[in-house]
Amino acid sequence: MIQLFLPLNFLGFVYREIRRALTDLENMLGLLKRKPQITDAAGASTLQLTKGEIRFEQVAFQYQPERPILQQLNFTVPAGSKVAIVGASGAGKSTIARLLYRFYTTSAGRICIDGQDISTVTLDSLRRAIAIVPQDTVLFNSSIRENIRYGRPDASEADIDQAIALAHLQHFIASLPQGDATLVGERGLKVSGGEKQRIAIARAILKRSPILLFDEATSALDSASEQAILQAMREVARNHTSVVIAHRLSTITDADNIIVLKHGQLAEQGSHDELLAAGGEYARMWQLQQKQQQ
Ligand code: ADP
Ligand code: MG
Repeated sequence: MIQLFLPLNFLGFVYREIRRALTDLENMLGLLKRKPQITDAAGASTLQLTKGEIRFEQVAFQYQPERPILQQLNFTVPAGSKVAIVGASGAGKSTIARLLYRFYTTSAGRICIDGQDISTVTLDSLRRAIAIVPQDTVLFNSSIRENIRYGRPDASEADIDQAIALAHLQHFIASLPQGDATLVGERGLKVSGGEKQRIAIARAILKRSPILLFDEATSALDSASEQAILQAMREVARNHTSVVIAHRLSTITDADNIIVLKHGQLAEQGSHDELLAAGGEYARMWQLQQKQQQ
């Protein structure tokens, strides 16, 4: 009896030690992941959206001290226009999106929407005004349909069906045994990067915010689906202010203004034709991508 008990007891000890080590590791990772707390400023007001104009004024930002990411960034997105932000990976494009949605607060300067500093308005009113398709979408442990409904919880079933159609999700959904009731997220069906992006696009379409913010929203799609979705997005974005962060320049040639970001600073801006004629950074990126396509 004792012979059996001792090894079991020892195994129990090892098991408890491993559990404790794992818990410690989890706690540590949790600390690393934790972002600075973003909360409403005292006396924060509700964002009064009149036209949907966005202005970055002398914006600077750093995640860590002494490593500036954005510096003296000035640009305006006129109400109802489409502005694209392009630049090499690591230039700070997604950081601009995160600041606008206030996942982080600017280190200097300010961001205004219709003349109101976004750090002085409630997070809720700010985030209601902006529909974001982030670079990495998180799906909840729920059905595909619930994941889309999250964009606007009081949307009608018909609105959800329309968003599914505009995001070209109906064929994918039809191919699943449980259709749009199929569970996704960590514990559900593994969906591809492209399918995840389409779910995020449907969510954003459903939200119907006056400002649309897309961060490489179609980067994981093949060219044919990308073209189809871009067309749908153009229709949705009509009369909306939209900021489109893009890697593939061929997707944003129709933008009213293109901002070229280099090492966190504005290198040049203009329309596609203007920037090509200028023969600068954008023209170089364009030629490089054209060559890669052939
Ligand atoms: P882009 O979207 O243009 O590829 P990002 O805005 O994501 O670039 O990142 C800009 C720079 O900021 C990169 O050098 C990146 O390593 C750094 N960075 C991004 N997120 C964080 C973070 N959470 N903490 C520290 N540095 C970060
Ligand atoms: Mg990015």
